[in-house]
Amino acid sequence: RLREWQRGVRADFPILTANPDLAYLDSAATAQKPGAVLDAVAEFLSTTNANVGRGSYPWANNTTARVASARERIRQALGDDNSDSTVEFVSGTSHGLRAIATDWLAGLLTEGDEIIVPFGDHQANLLPWLEVRDVLARQGVRITVRRLPVDPASGDYDHRALPGIVNDRTRFVAATHVHHVYGGNMNVHRIRDVVGPDVPICLDAAQSMGHGPVSVAELDVDFVVFSGHKMLALPGIGAVWARNTRGPRFALGGWAGTPNTAAIVSLEAAFDWLDAAGLDNIRDWTTALGVRLTDGLNRLEDVDVLGCQRSLTADSDVQRREGIVTFRHRKVRSDDLGFVLASEGIMVRADSHCQAGRDTEDRAVRVSLHAYNTPDEIDRLLAVVRRCEGN
Ligand code: PMP
Repeated sequence: RLREWQRGVRADFPILTANPDLAYLDSAATAQKPGAVLDAVAEFLSTTNANVGRGSYPWANNTTARVASARERIRQALGDDNSDSTVEFVSGTSHGLRAIATDWLAGLLTEGDEIIVPFGDHQANLLPWLEVRDVLARQGVRITVRRLPVDPASGDYDHRALPGIVNDRTRFVAATHVHHVYGGNMNVHRIRDVVGPDVPICLDAAQSMGHGPVSVAELDVDFVVFSGHKMLALPGIGAVWARNTRGPRFALGGWAGTPNTAAIVSLEAAFDWLDAAGLDNIRDWTTALGVRLTDGLNRLEDVDVLGCQRSLTADSDVQRREGIVTFRHRKVRSDDLGFVLASEGIMVRADSHCQAGRDTEDRAVRVSLHAYNTPDEIDRLLAVVRRCEGN
């Protein structure tokens, strides 16, 4: 059933139709765009382009309405029916997390407070929190930053260790929904039980939004941050969703001037496309490809898959594999492997992946998938890696 569905899906991407011999396996860096998203942007810019919130003529009203509608669309995508919540547009996840740190968290913390943040996820979800600590320290306010522990074997958070670092001074937790290197779903829904009802949780959803359902009710988080370009929309746009019930209301500081209206239009078109394709289908498909790849790599003697090995159950003690698989070859350097793959028309990322705590020499090959990828592309990649083994 999904194979039939997938043929239709792939045909929606002009860049892939134009390059049938290339395999794009780097969607965690940025995803390709469906024709409908490109058309929506062209339609907006060539028919009713005007600035937002200014002027009373029809084009201006149209832009203002489209921006409002995109905000509503984000609430709807997150399953949010809370009228106090806000959606602010930002340039992407990095900008959004930094905005929460500087425009919200910094003003909230007092001497002796503690925050819990991940030290092995994307740097974008560590550096802004450390900066809050340093800025406060310069003002004479000392806070403690605690490490949300990651279990290196599974790539999941070590949820069992969490109770040991939560205490009555815990004011904030930052977490990641799907790990951008290990490819596992981080079981963030388990954090609320440990921290209790009052501590705000911020979710980096850069690798989950547009890849499968993200529900703020189910996860009981207070912020969700994501990037448009990883969910099939244009670069230069992202959003912060804020629940606003634990702590002060979130408002973006210094926000004035003209937002990226064309990219906001692309966001809504991307949500339309994702809904039509079906987020459950997309997640099932990319997960199955991820498992196919993990299993194939595990059969090779000199290859180590990092983090999440497989496992698909919804059971909360088991980690769900999503469509990102990262590996290392014991005898072939990762950048060489990336080079060989590129020469075969296979596009992957081979570096240290902006992972906090990992130095730039510590490279690995990351394969990341979206709905348009095929089992054939996985098998092509496996064949190249297998050939490297023979050398
Ligand atoms: N968080 C995670 C988990 C990511 O994968 C990325 C992008 N690689 C980011 C944050 C940063 O996203 P952006 O570059 O769109 O700001």
